[in-house]
Amino acid sequence: MVGEVWRIGDVKISRIVEIEATGGMTRIIPDASRERVMGIRWLYPHFADEEGRMRGAIHALLVETPDMSILVDTCIGNDKERSVPAWNHLQTAFLNDLKSAGKGREQIDRVLCTHLHTDHVGWNTMWTGSEWVPTFPNARYLYGAKEFNFWRENAEDGQAQVMQDSVLPVWDAGLVDLVEQDAEICPGITLIPSPGHTPGHASVLIESAGQSALITGDFLHHPVQMAHPEWSSSPDVDRPQAIQTRKTMYNRFADGPTLIIGTHFATPTAGYIKKDGDAWRLEV
Ligand SMILES: [Zn+2]
Repeated sequence: MVGEVWRIGDVKISRIVEIEATGGMTRIIPDASRERVMGIRWLYPHFADEEGRMRGAIHALLVETPDMSILVDTCIGNDKERSVPAWNHLQTAFLNDLKSAGKGREQIDRVLCTHLHTDHVGWNTMWTGSEWVPTFPNARYLYGAKEFNFWRENAEDGQAQVMQDSVLPVWDAGLVDLVEQDAEICPGITLIPSPGHTPGHASVLIESAGQSALITGDFLHHPVQMAHPEWSSSPDVDRPQAIQTRKTMYNRFADGPTLIIGTHFATPTAGYIKKDGDAWRLEV
């Protein structure tokens, strides 16, 4: 499904939705019980239902500058063997949806991964029937150098499988460029280090013609973590660092003009961070 389209100056950003669902986020943020979520009224109606179940999504973002088409985070992908039942051997029309949004897979110039977890690298590759091959044959794939080196040394179990079927086949094909955590991808598209969830995690700042947007990646998973930055996401590798990153990023963008596009935020997916007492909230 093609979701929202935003325009930031001369840059067009399109949301390619792989999954949108209610209820699965409690597994990711265990502190966010239904009772606690029900008490945070600004989450309604977009980010939680009346029973306190959080809504979430998995989507890719197609970022089109005047010169370049960049696909940020590539979801879970089709045909991947995964331990989460809803993600196992997924079959969606992702590539058709990408085409509906304006780009065939041969037309993607850069694939940018905020980090190398399973739901951010899946469409990096596709299954031919006998092997995993890069989905975007004309793209340079940008992996964070620190992120890539960390997972090459430390991946176990499910993450090891993700490396094998989604990350390393692209490396072996010679299509990867390792980038620094604060790299400029092209004029107006810059990475911001946002470590904690993973060591090399980066967010994506888009600036054009006086407007700006931030693609979060997973330094937070759900807007509830604006009200409670101390509520960790279960996959956070370094929880104290992830909490500090959330506070630093909220302080930087609160009450400012930058549109915040959440990598796992349900429709409408984007809004503005507002200071809210000792914490923050998302205004859509
Ligand atoms: Zn994720």
